[in-house]
Amino acid sequence: MQEFQKTLRRRYDFEGKGLHSGRQVKMSLLPAPENTGIRFLRTDLGPDAYIEAVADYVTQTQRGTTLEKGEIRVSTIEHILATFSGLGVDNAVIALDNLEVPILDGSSAPYIQAILPDGLEEQSAPRRWYTLEKPIFVRDEQSGAELEITPADEFSIELTVDYNSEVLGVQHASFKMGDDFATEFAPCRTFVFFHELEFLAKNGLIKGGDVENALVIVEKPVPQEELDRMADLFNVQHLTRTPAGYLDNVTLRFPNECVRHKLMDIMGDFSLVGCRFRAHVRAVKSGHKINTDIAKRIRYELLGGTSEC
Ligand SMILES: [Zn+2]
Repeated sequence: MQEFQKTLRRRYDFEGKGLHSGRQVKMSLLPAPENTGIRFLRTDLGPDAYIEAVADYVTQTQRGTTLEKGEIRVSTIEHILATFSGLGVDNAVIALDNLEVPILDGSSAPYIQAILPDGLEEQSAPRRWYTLEKPIFVRDEQSGAELEITPADEFSIELTVDYNSEVLGVQHASFKMGDDFATEFAPCRTFVFFHELEFLAKNGLIKGGDVENALVIVEKPVPQEELDRMADLFNVQHLTRTPAGYLDNVTLRFPNECVRHKLMDIMGDFSLVGCRFRAHVRAVKSGHKINTDIAKRIRYELLGGTSEC
């Protein structure tokens, strides 16, 4: 059956803080003509400050994916891109007046809640699917991350994460076309280990972290004074560790919310291939670096060095 490209039915506005920069940002999602693809626009840098959402422009992958083209930089792009990928938006402009996408609640739920009631606008150009000809396998010896992409009739992902964490254990998630991205994956929030928080804060990251936009995993019981110090850092009155091993700032939306979030990150990073492709993805402990490295490879395999899908 012939499929057609889709865009948004109208404009959607969001406002919030960037997770890492802490900067206040206004962001609008806008419909776009056929064959535009997904593009970011830095409105603060001028009316033509566009950067295409493709892997060629990835420059940083520490705790989020950053694109950079000359002066134009946008970071923490993965959740809005995952939303578009999961809903099937082919063409859209993401307009921002600062350098980082707002973290909102740490998930894609706010986008879904806005867009889903309107549905999408079907356009007249056919949607193109690309087929991967040969498998790709990459392993990062240092982190133990693995990604294997094999040609298939449909796009699907299966992911396992194991951080040697007693709280998380080994978690699995899988996604195939037709699964309900909006309810099964979009609500899943980003997460961080408690012992990483001080390091991240000291290194100038998570300036926009306010303990309402992330799950915090506390591997072992920690003295209350350490929790109090963290509460000060995040400007909240009081924090405790739940019996399950999470900070009590938020309640889990799924028992395996963390791996579901990681799967959403893969969808966001893989959308940087810039075209839809059929393949089965098997991932272990994936992260933005390996995800975007593979997206570059897939892009090259599919397009043979040309930049247009
Ligand atoms: Zn994420």
